[in-house]
Amino acid sequence: MEYLSRSLKTMKDNKQFKFHPKYARVNLVQLGFADDLLLFCRGDMRSFKILHQHFQMFSAASSLIANPNKICIYFGSVSNLLQQQIMDILGYTKGELPFRYLGVPLRTKRLSVIQCEPLIERMLNMIQSWTTKFLSYAGRAVLVKKPKSASCVIQRIFKARSYFEDAGFTEEDVQKMEKYSVKQIYKAMHGEFSKMTWRKLVCNNQGLPKWIFILRLTIEQRLATKERLARWGIISEQTCSLCQRENETVHHLFFDCEISRDIWQHLLKWQGIQRTKKAWQEELTWLEQFGKGKSGGAAVCRMTIAAAVYHIWQEKNNVMFKKKRPTNAILRLIIQEMHVRATIFPRLD
Ligand SMILES: [Zn+2]
Repeated sequence: MEYLSRSLKTMKDNKQFKFHPKYARVNLVQLGFADDLLLFCRGDMRSFKILHQHFQMFSAASSLIANPNKICIYFGSVSNLLQQQIMDILGYTKGELPFRYLGVPLRTKRLSVIQCEPLIERMLNMIQSWTTKFLSYAGRAVLVKKPKSASCVIQRIFKARSYFEDAGFTEEDVQKMEKYSVKQIYKAMHGEFSKMTWRKLVCNNQGLPKWIFILRLTIEQRLATKERLARWGIISEQTCSLCQRENETVHHLFFDCEISRDIWQHLLKWQGIQRTKKAWQEELTWLEQFGKGKSGGAAVCRMTIAAAVYHIWQEKNNVMFKKKRPTNAILRLIIQEMHVRATIFPRLD
C-alpha cells in the first residue's frame, strides 16, 4: 500500500490529473480503512483514466488485485452520458450514495450528530471495555482524578467536561440537555457585561475605518491630547494647538475650541439639523440617540461625527508641524470625503 501511496502522491505533478474539488486543497487522492480503499478524483474522463492507470500499475507490481465485483464508482454532479462512458471504459458498476461504512452513512452532504451516533457509541464501548479490562477499581479512580495519565481520547473527554464545568454546568445539567448549543455555552463562559451606550455610533458607522478608530479613542478619552501627554510627563505645555487659549483636552477640542465649534455647527446645519452645539458629553448622548436608527439621516449623522472628529484631530496635528488651514477648507474637505464615501453605499448616495 505504501507503493500505491507513493505512486498517487506523484499525481500532484501531473497537470492532466485533476483532484476532487473538495480535496484539491489538501491534494487528497486516497483513503484506506483496513482492506478497503477509497480513491477520489474530479469527474472527468482523463482524471479517471490516470487514477485507474496508477492503480493498475500497483496491481501489476504487488499482485494485489481488486475484486471487480466489489468495486463501485460513486458520481456526484457528473452527467449521465459521461458516467456511462467512464463505466464502459473501466468496466466497473455504479454505486449509489448514501451507503453505510462502519455503521455510518457516507454521503455527499455534511453528517449530522445523529448519523455519527453509531460511531460514537462504538468508541465509548471500546473505551469502557478498555477501562474495565485493563484497570482495577483503584486504577479507574486514579484515571478519573488524573486524566493526564489517560489516553488521548479519554483526555479529550475530560477536557470537554472541564469546559462544561467552566461554564457552570454540572453533569446532571449536561445529561438533561436536549440539544447542545454552542451559543449557550459561549454565553455561559463569556459572562454578562453591560453594553456600551455608544456602541451603535461606532459599530454601525459607515465612515472610513480611520475616522471610526479616532472616534472610538475620543469617546474612550484615549486620544493623546496635550493634557494627557502632560499627565504622563512627556510635555509641560498644554495650550490648545488650534486656538492657543485653553488647555487641550478632549472636552475642549470637541467642540469648545472656536475652530472645531464652527466646523461642527456648520456640519449640523449641512445635515439640516437645527441645534446649538453643547459640551462633548451632552453632544455624545444626543448623538447616541439621534444616530441609532436605520434611517439614512441617522447613518449620515454617524458618519459626520466620525469625519468631523478625525479631521479636527488631523488639523490639530497639522498645526504643530505645518501651516494652519482656514475653517472653510477643512469643512469642504470633510463634506467632499463624505460624498465620496457615501457613493459606496447606494442608500446614502
Ligand atoms: Zn482650542
